[in-house]
Amino acid sequence: MNLIDERLEELKSKALACSDCPLAQTRTNVVFGEGNPNTPLVLVGEGPGANEDATGRPFVGRAGQLLDQCLAENRITRKHVYICNVVKCRACIIEGRSVKNRPPRQEEVSACYHWLKEQLEIIKPLVILSLGAPASNIIIHKDFKMTRERGIFFPTQYAESAIAALHPAYVLRQHGAEFEAARASLVADIAAARRKVMEIKKELAEKAAPQPEIKPAPPQELNLF
Ligand code: SF4
Repeated sequence: MNLIDERLEELKSKALACSDCPLAQTRTNVVFGEGNPNTPLVLVGEGPGANEDATGRPFVGRAGQLLDQCLAENRITRKHVYICNVVKCRACIIEGRSVKNRPPRQEEVSACYHWLKEQLEIIKPLVILSLGAPASNIIIHKDFKMTRERGIFFPTQYAESAIAALHPAYVLRQHGAEFEAARASLVADIAAARRKVMEIKKELAEKAAPQPEIKPAPPQELNLF
């Protein structure tokens, strides 16, 4: 376990006991995030649903399976990346015996934000892939529009670069040709994020490499001008 692992574990143990917003009253588990803390690529979604709440793990259930398939088509597994959400507890509406997901409220997002921020400050990814518009509103910019800005790289305070992709749960709600197109776009955006990681790594390696010695021009060249 290195320092990054240790710091993230310490943060996680604090987050698991969090009761900073009303979602603490209805959650089963805090879904802190999981994967490789030493990764250059972090995926961020909006918040946990029923399966995630039940297991304490991000992106399980059908949306998680689709995400795993799209990652696998880019030869990426969960051991290569870190996956988390903006909000760490499930937002839901309880009506009698029925419990339905709902989007987190602004005050819940604000209360939870510091956990994500600290997570990303510890991991220091090179690239973030935000899944869906709500996560992109936090990671990229507050007026982010998926229809106009999906697949574009943006500078971000949390990483060298960030790109948005469709949320796998949204992809699953599409049918027929729309489903195929949405799924293909998710695969393509993961591929773009992977390429960006490699590009940034190459740039950093070039900057870190010793510069060749620049010799002064011989006198006869100077005489040409
Ligand atoms: S959603 Fe975030 S702020 Fe609210 S209780 Fe859970 S961990 Fe704490």
